[in-house]
Amino acid sequence: MRNRALFFSFFFVCILTFPRLSIAQPTKLNRLKMEAVQHVETMQTFTQQMVDMLFSFGELGFQEHETSKYITDILKENGFEVETGQSGIPTAWVARWGSGAPVIAFGSDIDGIPKASQKPGVAYHDPVIEGAPGHGEGHNSGQAVNVTAALALQKIMVQKNISGTLVLWPGVAEEQLGSKAYFVRDGVFNNVDAVLFTHVSSNLSVSYGEGRGSGLVSVEYTFLGDSAHSAGAPWRGRSALDAVELMNIGMNFRREHLRLSQRTHYVITNGGDQPNVVPSVAQVWYYFREVDYEHIKRLFDIGNDVARGAALMTNTEVEWRILGTAWPRHFNKPIAEAMYDNIKEIGLPDWSEADQTLAKAWQKEVGRAPDGLPDELSDPPKPRIGPQLGGGSDDIGDVSWTVPTVTLRYPANIQGLPGHHWSSAVAMATPIAHKGSTTGAKVLAMTALDLLMRPELIEATKTYFTEEQGKETTYTPIISAEDKPATFLNEKIMSEFRDKMKAYYFDPARYKTYLEQLGIEYPTVRGHQ
Ligand SMILES: [Zn+2]
Repeated sequence: MRNRALFFSFFFVCILTFPRLSIAQPTKLNRLKMEAVQHVETMQTFTQQMVDMLFSFGELGFQEHETSKYITDILKENGFEVETGQSGIPTAWVARWGSGAPVIAFGSDIDGIPKASQKPGVAYHDPVIEGAPGHGEGHNSGQAVNVTAALALQKIMVQKNISGTLVLWPGVAEEQLGSKAYFVRDGVFNNVDAVLFTHVSSNLSVSYGEGRGSGLVSVEYTFLGDSAHSAGAPWRGRSALDAVELMNIGMNFRREHLRLSQRTHYVITNGGDQPNVVPSVAQVWYYFREVDYEHIKRLFDIGNDVARGAALMTNTEVEWRILGTAWPRHFNKPIAEAMYDNIKEIGLPDWSEADQTLAKAWQKEVGRAPDGLPDELSDPPKPRIGPQLGGGSDDIGDVSWTVPTVTLRYPANIQGLPGHHWSSAVAMATPIAHKGSTTGAKVLAMTALDLLMRPELIEATKTYFTEEQGKETTYTPIISAEDKPATFLNEKIMSEFRDKMKAYYFDPARYKTYLEQLGIEYPTVRGHQ
């Protein structure tokens, strides 16, 4: 708050005291940033509607049809040129506006989580539709941040005749690590100078250097055997399900002798049809995570060996295909430092009593300390120290090894989330998410202005990218030229729920907010049901 006040008072002193003064470069930039912040503030209703609309769609990876249509319609109305079907993915698109250099790309994920349907503003489990997908990660807010910032920049770039191109793109099927390596392979980031990626968080932060977490390869193993009557002639069958079970047993024993930094997990996606038919086809889907490319490849090789062993034991055949990949992340220091200066200017949103009540009730519900929403900014970016023990992944990793990239984490959710869970959807169509997204859009627009107005910053990002980040590591894609995005994923789940979900799409013509449409009192906590 103090910093924000300083920034604004400095600005007003400048223009009120010296209105005719030709303003030096830093001051001119500050004035443009101030204008961007004001534009974002006037768009609060627009941002809120986008957040609520995307929340109500709740679409899973590769099936984000309503989501992508809604966002690209807005972009087209605002003069962006939109190409759809990027990399053969029906829900992927690239939107461009402006001309010339520098080229700044904004990305954010758009997909939801299975079984995460949840009424917003309600601090206990209460799905909108039982079993349906929902935004249990908060990916409904990032494009609202990006589009708001882009429209604010557009106004300023037109008025002030600022050269540069804005490119907007979606992280399709991030939960499946399904699209970004393909965007890289297919040239989406050719000629892009910097990527500003946005991701929901519970604070306002940015990092640089080696990111926390892992990279991964996501692989589906298909075992093929032969069916037979399970009681009448079991000796004539060759069970593909046996092979799946033996592969899992093999990997679970092998786990003891793997590096501490690995994460390996699986789900059986096809275990046969019924007990009295020996399963002729069975499938298991693995995520193999490690902290660098060499170890991801090594773990993948181990998985393939174990799968071959299981096939040998059961007299079945095995084949596999890659469903997704992600490189470990590495973020750009000069952009992160410029972004953090803007973060300090903007600060955290002013949380209301109702926001804090929801946050604390929710935290109690999931069994953590009810410390509410943060009132202090995250630490400034600094290099990660200590051994890298892995964790989650995001295919922004592939982008970050292709173009100087950072991820802006903005405060649209409650801290202490288990993640990938209905509880992460509770705040995501409430004033917490709305204010957090507006806050994110301000920082994003300001940082884009830094890149548009300071050629020396672009130079510094490139120097860091080549000389520091690229000193010892060269990006080698995990996918080949032949691999295809797994666009069939989630088709079945979405076809089961889509019609039911349509009845709950947000209707901004009739309601101000999604909370109002659903008739939810904000906040709804236990004891007030
Ligand atoms: Zn995410």
